[in-house]
Amino acid sequence: MKIICIGRNYVLHAKELNNPIPEKPVWFMKPQSAIITKNKPFFYPEFSQDIHFETELVYHICKVGKYIEERFAHTYYDAIGVGFDFTARDLQSEFKAKGLPWEPAKAFDGSAPISKFIPINEIDDVNNIQFSMKKNGTLMQQGNSKDMLFPIDKIISYVSQFLTIKMGDLIYTGTPAGVGPIEVGDKLEAFIGDKLMLKTSIK
Ligand code: ZN
Repeated sequence: MKIICIGRNYVLHAKELNNPIPEKPVWFMKPQSAIITKNKPFFYPEFSQDIHFETELVYHICKVGKYIEERFAHTYYDAIGVGFDFTARDLQSEFKAKGLPWEPAKAFDGSAPISKFIPINEIDDVNNIQFSMKKNGTLMQQGNSKDMLFPIDKIISYVSQFLTIKMGDLIYTGTPAGVGPIEVGDKLEAFIGDKLMLKTSIK
């Protein structure tokens, strides 16, 4: 399986990092080894001094497809969860300035804690999902899928021009504004609506 991540998909977040508003989806990938499940802790790596949280809705792909038309894209996902896209912001800033790839800043072990998934038939409207994140009990991020620049169906249609998506793949759909640093000892909690979905302790 693979993890496809969308960058700059919420206008206010693109602005907070002084990035231009993209005309096409910006995407990158994380490997399977990035995943943390079952609320296991994240161990702060030694190669960065500035790991940031990004809280994102994650869509679970349920069948294989290529060149998927936007109008059929909704048949390619069957469940939604929430995940953290941990980012070594210090490395990413350096790579951006030099025009280098982002992988070392995005694809490292443990950079993708992920919740359990809610089946799509239990969700009223995939384009109106409220989600949020608390760090040590304080609200840090709030988002709604309706504010995505590129909704999930557009993302699937666009990305599947480049690569075949397969059952079990995950799509991280970008973070709303409010990203910030984590430190050893922090406790992060992510919610869909009022439901606590994901807990990650930083060790
Ligand atoms: Zn992200």
